[in-house]
Amino acid sequence: MVKSLPRRSEVPAEETWDLNSLFPSDKEFNAALESLQQEVAGFQKQFKGNIQDAASVVEVLTSYLALLEKLVPISTYASLSLSTDQTDDEAQMRSNKFGSVSAKMSSQLSFVTSELLALPEETLKSAMEQSGEFEVYLKELIRRKPHQLHPEVEKTLAAYSSTFSAPYGLYNTTKMVDMAFDDFEVNGQSYPLSYVSFEGDWEAEPDAELRRTAFTAFSNKLKEYQHTTAKTYDMQLQTEKTTSDLRGYDTIFDYLLFNQEVDRSLYNRQIDLIMTELAPHMQKYANLLQKAHGLDKMTFADLKISLDPSYEPEITVEESKKYINEALGIMGDDYLEMVERSYSERWIDFAQNTGKSTGAFCSSPYGNHPYILISWTGRMNEVFVLAHELGHAGHFYNANREQNLFNARPSLYFIEAPSTMNEMLVANHLLQNSDDPKFKRWVISSIVARTYYHNFVTHLLEAAYQRKVYERIDAGQSVNAGVLNSIKRGMLEEFWGDAVEITPGAELTWMRQPHYYMGLYPYTYSAGLTISTQVSKRILNEGQQAVDEWLEVLKAGGTKTPVELAQMAGVDITTEKPLRDTIAYIGELIDELVALTEEIEEVAK
Ligand SMILES: [Zn+2]
Repeated sequence: MVKSLPRRSEVPAEETWDLNSLFPSDKEFNAALESLQQEVAGFQKQFKGNIQDAASVVEVLTSYLALLEKLVPISTYASLSLSTDQTDDEAQMRSNKFGSVSAKMSSQLSFVTSELLALPEETLKSAMEQSGEFEVYLKELIRRKPHQLHPEVEKTLAAYSSTFSAPYGLYNTTKMVDMAFDDFEVNGQSYPLSYVSFEGDWEAEPDAELRRTAFTAFSNKLKEYQHTTAKTYDMQLQTEKTTSDLRGYDTIFDYLLFNQEVDRSLYNRQIDLIMTELAPHMQKYANLLQKAHGLDKMTFADLKISLDPSYEPEITVEESKKYINEALGIMGDDYLEMVERSYSERWIDFAQNTGKSTGAFCSSPYGNHPYILISWTGRMNEVFVLAHELGHAGHFYNANREQNLFNARPSLYFIEAPSTMNEMLVANHLLQNSDDPKFKRWVISSIVARTYYHNFVTHLLEAAYQRKVYERIDAGQSVNAGVLNSIKRGMLEEFWGDAVEITPGAELTWMRQPHYYMGLYPYTYSAGLTISTQVSKRILNEGQQAVDEWLEVLKAGGTKTPVELAQMAGVDITTEKPLRDTIAYIGELIDELVALTEEIEEVAK
């Protein structure tokens, strides 16, 4: 049963993360911010106008890197302390203050890239030879050169950076602060509703009437804010379009994909193949859910139910350790030590409270340990969520240790590979250790209903919708709530066909995702999972050799492109094959679910 959530101040400390390793209190945070501002001013004084030869390039980058390293804990503290309670005024003010100070600092620091790019390419190349540390950074800078603007323009744009990121802040404020959900009623009884409880509980509620009523109440509340949210989103899109034009990109897609180091064929392939080839498998899955639950019809509000709600093992945080350790044990002692520390040193925020960010994420500040935010519901599938976030943690635990700050972070295209990899490891471990058809069905349906659904359906449908939105923006148009609703509904209808009725309210799903403020992020989930599906199969078949290669990929951080990273792990993503294989694998899993369900029903007769 869904309970109303406690306030952040009422949550026991052991369920929260410990931000002490960043800063023990506001006082130290403010002092660090203050002293960094002074250092930035000193740095500007020392180097501005003085970057002339290879030796001074190395010198300025060495100091620049040191400054950026000091910025990391400050920005992390400002954002993490807000993420656990967006209604906390103090945290709001801290984050705003940091935003404006950091915009000022990036403006002061913008001369670095401008002056470096004004140098002859020969000088930059000779700096690379003098210090291999900066090779990746400088190569990236040279790649960026055609899109660099006049130094004064760069400085001005940097000064506006917190204004340019305002839409994302507005989106969150509308969603997390203003939107207050009323209780909803079924048969004279009232039930509490919130963003967190809807996405964490009500969407998967086995009782159809409760679930569908919760969906309607949730959608009605979203609807009240659709115009503000659409306008906020349009502001984001227009800013991106203007930036893309100013910097001379052919299309907004080229601009947004530039940082990802992938071309449009990899992007389009992911969306096109999944929309056409995965859809029939998922429709079959929807039919199976409908049959298993004896539903009169399958609606959009029913898609998140589990195949067998009577079989949903519960699990405490303490109990999750055993599963996580066993499943991830294959990654080796160093990796397991990180997992152990993440529990014992409180790197993880497990609490459920009002105002907390929805979903789960991992933040991996350079020079510190990773932090994980999750809202623990006590259902067994949280083990998959936690393993996922620990995958991000394990990635940067390795990359941050092996690489400098410039080189640690790979393309967004690759980001979700290590995380989804861990979900596959959990599934493989659970399947290998049970012959009970009910448990096996639960595991497979967890991978289908969670891992693949989340990455190949939820986020991919976002990506397909987002592509349509950007096509419109690229053609010089704008969007409003009506347009967004109709594009979203169209995508859902195309994917689900006759198998699922797209209930009124489903078209508002675009309002739920913060991803739209992060460029072309949604499609990368399926891209990452395509790579991890192939690698996890290699681990099953080839064992240690494949694990060792994967660990090397994690350590490589951002020193290679996504194509090269995948290559290191034995997957060639320049062809369609890995994606086609993965879609076929999802199809096999769904067929297995159908077969196991028949087997279980046969026994029950
Ligand atoms: Zn992730």
